[in-house]
Amino acid sequence: MGSAYAVWISEVMLQQTQVAAVIPYFHRFLARFPDVASLAAADESAVLRVWEGLGYYRRARQLHRAARIIVDQFAGELPNDPIQLAGLPGFGRYTANAVLTFSAHRRLPILEANTRRLWSRLAALEDRADAAAGERALWSLAEAALPKSRPDQMNQALMDLGATICTARSPACGQCPVAEFCSAFAIGNPESFPIVKPKRAKVDVEHVAVVAYADGKVYVVQRSETEVWGGLWEFPRTEIAAGETPAAAAARVLQAHKLGAFRIIEMFGKVRHAIMHYRVVLHGFRSALTSKGRPRAGLHGRWIPLGALEELPLSAPQRRLARSFFLNCVNSKGI
Ligand code: SF4
Repeated sequence: MGSAYAVWISEVMLQQTQVAAVIPYFHRFLARFPDVASLAAADESAVLRVWEGLGYYRRARQLHRAARIIVDQFAGELPNDPIQLAGLPGFGRYTANAVLTFSAHRRLPILEANTRRLWSRLAALEDRADAAAGERALWSLAEAALPKSRPDQMNQALMDLGATICTARSPACGQCPVAEFCSAFAIGNPESFPIVKPKRAKVDVEHVAVVAYADGKVYVVQRSETEVWGGLWEFPRTEIAAGETPAAAAARVLQAHKLGAFRIIEMFGKVRHAIMHYRVVLHGFRSALTSKGRPRAGLHGRWIPLGALEELPLSAPQRRLARSFFLNCVNSKGI
């Protein structure tokens, strides 16, 4: 049984992320922020930097916010009332129940991706599992299955069964200990469940990001909290419009950020990444001061010493772009 704090951190990290990817982050996070008080006292930037690379940064900002509320309103202890806990930023019913069942053996059901799939198949649920009616039915099934004694073990067993036997593709029904109770198996079509809203098709887009570099400093902007990668920093970027060249889009970025004393010099690198339903090609451009110009404060961002980039939380593609800039411009050309 882990501490409620450690269970909380692991549960949040495991949302939408594989266990193997989470493990090193989990240890680094706990080493840096060993308890609620240290997390609450940290700057948001420091929390995002430790989180960098794990994705879904809203989780980190909400963890941080919740830690501050726990310190201010609950004397630094996670509340043991599931409804109160579920109301904190980033919790919801699943995380609150997981923290309380795994840290205190509370009889509270768990519904996450693996158990959602498992219960949908066991019941051959016709409702969409990602809509309200289906969701209610699944919570009821998960709750009814819990024994009075060690419900946490049942919760863990169900999650493991979903993760290892009742997998999304090719479930191992022949080895499944609950096959005789499984409606989807009886019908012969387990992979048709859960029924969910169809996924959106992938869309290809191209973006440019501009590294404005002068006097040993680079210009960076912070993404707003409502965007993907909210709170992280980046080189200013934009989507390339239809019919526009990457260089023209890069020049537009300079204008949009009132970096009129700069001009685009060259494209130094290209990074491919996927985000939500987009496949993105990100072109990195270097820009420099025109001979008579001088750097001014940009419209939205700030100038930081090049070396400080290492401390700043960046999205994974922007971190790769920063490394490419170091490699292709700073190291090889000595600019
Ligand atoms: Fe999943 Fe197959 Fe077991 Fe049903 S029998 S719960 S579909 S693994």
